[in-house]
Parts: sequence; C-alpha cells; structure tokens
Amino acid sequence: MKVAVCKEPKKPLVFEEWDVPEINDDEVLIKVHYCGVCHSDLHIVDGDWDDWVSYPTVPGHEVAGIAVKVGRNVSWIKEGDPVGMPWIYSSCEVCDYCVDGDEPLCPNHEITGITKQGGYAEYMKAPGRFVTRIPENLDLAYSAPLFCAGVTVYSALKRLNIKPDELVAVQGIGGLGHLALQYAKAMGARVVAISHSSKKEKLARELGADYFIDTSKIDPAEELRKLGGADVILTTVFKAEAIQPLVEGLAPRGRLSVVGAAQEPIQVAPFDLITKRIVVTGSAVGGRKLLRETLRFSADFGIKPLIEVHPFEKVNEVLDRVRKGEVELRAVLKMVQ
Ligand SMILES: [Zn+2]
Ligand SMILES: [Zn+2]
Repeated sequence: MKVAVCKEPKKPLVFEEWDVPEINDDEVLIKVHYCGVCHSDLHIVDGDWDDWVSYPTVPGHEVAGIAVKVGRNVSWIKEGDPVGMPWIYSSCEVCDYCVDGDEPLCPNHEITGITKQGGYAEYMKAPGRFVTRIPENLDLAYSAPLFCAGVTVYSALKRLNIKPDELVAVQGIGGLGHLALQYAKAMGARVVAISHSSKKEKLARELGADYFIDTSKIDPAEELRKLGGADVILTTVFKAEAIQPLVEGLAPRGRLSVVGAAQEPIQVAPFDLITKRIVVTGSAVGGRKLLRETLRFSADFGIKPLIEVHPFEKVNEVLDRVRKGEVELRAVLKMVQ
C-alpha cells in the first residue's frame, strides 16, 4: 500500500510502499477513502511539536473509509461499514476521564498520525473500540473533516451549554469556524460571525450568521455590547492579540472558549470575573461520545464542511497551500482514485 511518511521535520513527505497492516482479533482494517488535512498535520511536518512527535510518522487524523477486515472480537462493526478514525486513536478506557467519555483528557491516550500510523495511507488499522461508524446518509468525503474540525467545534459548543436564543459569536471563519457557525445556528442560537476580512461576510451569512463583525473596521467588543453582549464566544484563531479584545464583549455570565492553540497569554480582569461571572475556557477535539454526536447531529441537520478535494499524490502541495493560508476552508485528500 502507498503511504506518505514524514521521515524528518521540515522536509516534504515521502511516498513509500508498505505492507498492508495485519490486524489482531480486536482491530479493524480500514481502506482509507478520504483523509482531511488539518493544521495539526502541518505542525508535525514543520517540526513545531518535535518534543512529542517521534519521526518517522504517517500523519492524518480525519480518516473516512470502509472497514474491509474486522477482528473476530469486534461485533459492532461489519465488513463494508463506512467508518472513520479521529485524533484519539485509543485510550486507557479505565481512568475517570475515560469512564466519563472524556478520552482527550486521558493521560494514556494514543494519537492517530502521531504515535500511531495515520490516514495519509491507502489502509490503516485501528482498535475496534475506537473506530466510529459513519451514518449512512453522510458522504465519506464530507464526513472526513468532521473527525477533527467538526468534533472540535461541536464539542466546544456543547461544553458551553448553549441555550436557544443565546447570542453566540464565532471568531475566525475558516476550517473550524465555518462548521461552528452551522452548529451554533442548528442549536438555536442567534449567531455572530467575527472575521478580520469582510470577504467572509457572504459565506458567513449563507452558513447561518445573523450578524457579521469585521474586526479590521470596527471594535468587536463594542459591536457585541451593542447586541447585548455575547453569551458565548468561540474563537478559532491562533493569535492571542486577536482574542484579547473579545473578552470585553462578553455579557454577564458569558463564556469564552478557545480552540486555536495560541501560545501567548490572554488577560482577564478578576473584577470582571467577579462582577460579570464570565468564564474563560478552552477545548480540544472530543471523545467517542461527542464524536458520535457530532456525526449524527451533522447528518440530522444537513451540516457539511465546505471542502476542496485533491488526489493523495498532491499531499505536499496541499500542505504547502495550508501553510500559506491558501486553503480557505478544508482540504481533503482522496486516496481511492
Ligand atoms: Zn486536527
Ligand atoms: Zn483513560
């Protein structure tokens, strides 16, 4: 089978011919049809995380394909089922977090595409208990990005306990944000899109935004306060300086959640915490429970990512386009031509 290997950081991926993996009784062999290209893949390729990525590695954690071999202990998946694999490859399954369905907090989880072979390959094996079935009415190409981008923003919004008619602002209308707008709208919220470019307004409104704030022209906090203040702000941007002004736009009891891994701190005045009881938090991916919910919710409400599909052979060019910010929403590799 063909795989794209990251042999060492800061070098293009190298195509190699590997044996198709053998599975044990508890595993599933997936024929990968599509694999989304996530910003995290770029961090792996560019060596940003080289203290915890061990090279060589095969990236890819937005995997959608078909179960082609199923271990005999895996009774809940059949050969031929549409299935996928997310960021969480496996976890200990017995710690308090795992028992609570919160595998991303498990201290002993394995990560698809980092500690285990990921989806930039024609086949991958995975532990049956972590392989997730894709609802029949979801197309495989469109479901791939739901395994990271989708579950990340869906889980973040769920953890913020959105009530219908709350004002929910989404900052950053890219791969994550364009899905967050759709989920927030389907959850019954009044939705604000916040972007540094007015070019995103048309798309944001098509995806359900009731209001649009262009931060290059106006102060987002002031605009949010004019709307009564945001009950929820979900920010998908990577720069703390872009997130900082939004704190002032929260309504009393407002919650701000970050899903973009900015390194610099953001400041919150203790006075605001006390008098407005605001909450500042964050969220990363989601466990199996929230992933199943993400897929079902997306299928039920017809929520789809906007994708551009490229042949697997073009992976290095696609990564380069993500690096340059040329992929506006989500890129997906097509393995089966
Ligand atoms: Zn990802
Ligand atoms: Zn655990």
